[in-house]
Amino acid sequence: MAIHSQESPNRLVDRFGRQVTYVRMSVTDRCDFRCVYCMSERMTFIPRAQLLTLEEMAMLGQAFTELGVRKLRITGGEPLVRKNVISLFRQLGRLPELEELTLTTNGSQLEHLARPLREAGVKRINISLDSLDPRRFRRITRIGNLSKVLRGIDAALAVGFERLKLNTVAIRDRGDDEILGLLDFVLDHGMDITFIEQMPAGIDADAPSSQSFVPSEEILELLRTRHEVIATDETSGGPARYYRIPAHATRVGFISPRSHSFCESCNRVRVTTEGRLLLCLGQDHSVDLKKVLRAHPGDLSRLKQAITRAMELKPEGHDFNRARHPVAFRNMSSTGG
Ligand code: SAM
Ligand code: SF4
Repeated sequence: MAIHSQESPNRLVDRFGRQVTYVRMSVTDRCDFRCVYCMSERMTFIPRAQLLTLEEMAMLGQAFTELGVRKLRITGGEPLVRKNVISLFRQLGRLPELEELTLTTNGSQLEHLARPLREAGVKRINISLDSLDPRRFRRITRIGNLSKVLRGIDAALAVGFERLKLNTVAIRDRGDDEILGLLDFVLDHGMDITFIEQMPAGIDADAPSSQSFVPSEEILELLRTRHEVIATDETSGGPARYYRIPAHATRVGFISPRSHSFCESCNRVRVTTEGRLLLCLGQDHSVDLKKVLRAHPGDLSRLKQAITRAMELKPEGHDFNRARHPVAFRNMSSTGG
């Protein structure tokens, strides 16, 4: 399909002067796990015809990078269960303006996809892992297989990504030994780790978030019972606060959407599996980019115009307090976490 581009601004700046340089794109709402804080046991997934095609996603990637976006994260659902997803990585990996193509995955498919991902230009991967205990892992993911994920991590380590990071959602269900065990795991493997505060998204029937919520400070205190943990002013351009443990390469991050606000420096937007541009994870403001893509196939300048206009809608901040602001709490699996 011929793609035509006309003159348009090359930066995305919102009403509050924040420049958007980072896009998280969800490529499927499907997943081979059913994590308790993310999905319900029985899911109804979006009909395939309503999903963006991989070609439409590649065109979005082109539009965003021509508008100044420098980092694209592919997520889901489980992005690696989307058929032919490697072809999307290959197309995005060739975008001249893109500085970083990255991925968040549950690791279940890495055993066979780590190498093609590296060859497509992915340099860093986030792998979500909440437990190294097979039974607890199964309880959290409901259907996940820990050994498959561990084999996937081994494959990724063998391929030689620049950085591999574990994402761990802090939930009450776990013993303290598990948190310390996960830290030992990343220290041993030269990986990073980020602890994420649970957000009130998705269907949380088995683990009501008010009961399972653990603030980042509590995890930090626990790590400090065993290690010297030093605050740094390092940043990856996102909401994480980083710490270091002397004599180790490992970076320990905390993402604390409930206990810390980071909206004033927000540089990101999300695209759902259905092509809806979400201006804020904690608010409903959005624009239907699929409509634009399908009304004007191949018209890159229309798409860029729609994205540029959408910046007017980016709200000043999120609100994860249901009582104050009853937004439709979307499943993380369709918004891409
Ligand atoms: N399936 C992939 C995975 O698990 O890494 C990518 C999608 S998943 C929705 C992206 C990230 O969101 C994961 O690290 C997951 O742990 C996190 N997540 C899901 N539900 C969450 C919640 N309610 N609060 C905080 N993080 C959540
Ligand atoms: Fe699947 Fe990731 Fe959600 Fe777990 S967190 S159910 S792996 S999309």
